[in-house]
Amino acid sequence: MTAPILEVRDLHKSYGPTPALRGVTFQVERGAIFGLLGPNGAGKTTLLSILCGLLRADSGQARILGLTVSPDDGVFRWHIGVVPQDLALYEDLTARENLVFFGQLYGVQGHELKKRADEVLAAVGLTDRADRRVRTFSGGMKRRLNLGVAIMHRPSLLFLDEPTTGVDPQSRNHIFEEVRRLNAAGVTIVYTSHYMEEVQALCGRVGIIDHGRLIAYDTVANLLRSLHGVIRLRLLGEVGCLERRLAALPGVERLQVQGATVDLECLDVKATLVQIVALLNEQKAELVGLETEEPNLERVFLHLTGRALRD
Ligand code: ATP
Repeated sequence: MTAPILEVRDLHKSYGPTPALRGVTFQVERGAIFGLLGPNGAGKTTLLSILCGLLRADSGQARILGLTVSPDDGVFRWHIGVVPQDLALYEDLTARENLVFFGQLYGVQGHELKKRADEVLAAVGLTDRADRRVRTFSGGMKRRLNLGVAIMHRPSLLFLDEPTTGVDPQSRNHIFEEVRRLNAAGVTIVYTSHYMEEVQALCGRVGIIDHGRLIAYDTVANLLRSLHGVIRLRLLGEVGCLERRLAALPGVERLQVQGATVDLECLDVKATLVQIVALLNEQKAELVGLETEEPNLERVFLHLTGRALRD
């Protein structure tokens, strides 16, 4: 197995009396899209700032491609790209000029610089706006350019800090597509968000951070498997003897009946539903209401903390 591209060990950071990170340890394999999910104030930006060498940890270590991460040691920076939460663009320059400027800062030169700017403009869907000043762009277009700036020098590891905050659906899709395309081209991605749907859709492995601690660190599939799906049925009339038959269906873990309403917890919502429908048909029972809830990362967070992700 190859060495992880990013290794983080026991990071601590406080701002005066306020602890922001309280012993964070994880690693990211090459080629992964790793999601860092947590509510506002959980410590995500602090963690990313340390990993980008912008902020010094109080204790603990981080390594990128085996290189020590530190504000004093710049070598690792050539390998990373950073898309910060706040836009870092020159509003009076055009999109192309921004890309050229930041590309040069990272050592891209000559013919390659022009070629790369054209490629990046196409990738983030801004070719037709290339020569317009950034101040005339919508928020979503600026976010797309912010991503473009970070990939001019073809980094191996890209950090994205809540890249879709406040963007329109079209820009969000461009960002998603570009993240997937970059990853397919071999770029490892660390993606932070408090939108669990994004993390669930994009990431293989996830760290859930809360109050400066990693409270879960696993594949999305495993985290979701730790919860049951829920099916709520409302029948016409009493549930009666159906209760026993429903409880006996394979994969049904728990069942609660209240009047004509049945709440079932099951391992696989779709498979259980197929069996429920067959049973109801056989028993000539009439269904008047149906709700289902698949496990999702929001519920994983609720399960672990007792709070909603977006309190
Ligand atoms: P958000 O999603 O809102 O950006 P976050 O998960 O990125 O949140 P951080 O910005 O890392 O969280 O903040 C972690 C904690 O540290 C919070 O309690 C925050 O108030 C505090 N904090 C962050 N930056 C500073 C600072 N410069 N000075 C003092 N406290 C800070």
